[in-house]
Amino acid sequence: LPEIALAGRSNVGKSSFINKLINRKNLARTSSKPGKTQTLNFYKINEAFYFVDVPGYGYAKVSKKEREKWGGMMEEYFTTRETLKAAILVTDLRHEPTKDDLQMYDFLKYHELPVIIIATKLDKIPKNKRAQHVKRTKQTFEVAPDDIVIPFSAETGEGKDESWSVITHYLKN
Ligand code: GDP
Repeated sequence: LPEIALAGRSNVGKSSFINKLINRKNLARTSSKPGKTQTLNFYKINEAFYFVDVPGYGYAKVSKKEREKWGGMMEEYFTTRETLKAAILVTDLRHEPTKDDLQMYDFLKYHELPVIIIATKLDKIPKNKRAQHVKRTKQTFEVAPDDIVIPFSAETGEGKDESWSVITHYLKN
């Protein structure tokens, strides 16, 4: 089955994103084990593809040894995987993307992956400020022409249809 990598700082809303997409309450739990940075978690979606949760990103506080292990695992996965079609990077639309976010974006682009940026927690931003926040996210990432920023809310479901259509597009390629 094809795979789509899913990255984002812990607590940003990755599990909520998956659960909203597939209309589940709590199938996915990406952040149950803080500090467990060595494993990739595979979530099979609709018998059609896998979301591959990239753990432990935002790992400033782990030891050097942990970091090296994480780096090795990441390199191995991202350099050998022919089934990997695209990556989703979940960020918090309320805040300017962090250094960790930008590093992850660069890492994914370095591996020549299309990146779908899910700018989540849209519901927490007043309607008249949303466009401004989306613009800032695009500018801070300096998004590549083919990449897309999708404002999303796991509360209201905004951005869900667009997310599905973009994911489906990359699964076909
Ligand atoms: P993860 O660690 O990246 O998997 O993050 P979670 O999905 O567990 O979300 C972390 C917290 O943010 C939880 O309390 C969620 O309820 C909340 N959250 C996630 N997405 C949204 C959203 O779109 N809107 C709001 N209001 N809260 C959200």
